[in-house]
Amino acid sequence: MQDDVRPMFAANWKMHLGPEETASFVQRFADLHEVRQGARVVFFPPYLSVGAFLASSRSRPDLELGVQDVHQETAGAHTGAVSAPMAKQAGARWALAGHSERRREFGDDDVAVAAKVARIIDEGLRPVLCVGETLEEREAGELEVVLSRQIEAVLSSLAADRLPSLTYAYEPVWAIGTGRTASPDDAAQAHAVVRQEIRRCGGRTDAVILYGGSVKPGNIDALLAAPGVDGVLVGGASLDPESFAAICAGGV
Ligand code: PEP
Repeated sequence: MQDDVRPMFAANWKMHLGPEETASFVQRFADLHEVRQGARVVFFPPYLSVGAFLASSRSRPDLELGVQDVHQETAGAHTGAVSAPMAKQAGARWALAGHSERRREFGDDDVAVAAKVARIIDEGLRPVLCVGETLEEREAGELEVVLSRQIEAVLSSLAADRLPSLTYAYEPVWAIGTGRTASPDDAAQAHAVVRQEIRRCGGRTDAVILYGGSVKPGNIDALLAAPGVDGVLVGGASLDPESFAAICAGGV
């Protein structure tokens, strides 16, 4: 898949913003953020807010929709889960896989993440594969080992023709929701490792790689200027339309 767009700005709303709040967010954001040629903006709202997102963004097809997770099966007795075909039918184009909160809270291990990525691609959605190390792993000097394991688990399980369609997000777990951001140098170094692992595993080395972890209007320009950082995945600062609009204006 070759329609990669840089910079990419992605908003992961996690378990925030219900349908009513989503409608007001989109209205306000659309006033603040003009269509930006050559950039991509993707929102990952909670499932229940997907309908409100689509209804309120009808006049703004530049604001793309994704879901925060999908089950690896297409249907079945999996209470509380949502499948990739359902996400697609509902209007999503993107899906996250392997977010550290899913890995930690819901037991998504490398095998499950690989199965989810394969399903996402099979259903014609675009996956954003999230990878990243914990503080303990970083302090133990295991950055490369962890990134290598997480990337290889997914890429080694995919047929060669599916490898090109991945987008990646490097999200150091110690920087997510903590207010502690990786320095631009840290981000550049980790993105180089991610790219090197993608190459080693036969993936496309010019893939889009996002940085995630306490991105804010105040650090967006420095992060986007770091070599190899193609965009950002934003949690907390994407919940406020002013703040996310400022982020989406960054890097120019
Ligand atoms: C995230 O959850 O993907 C994230 C990067 O969160 P935050 O921006 O709040 O650190």
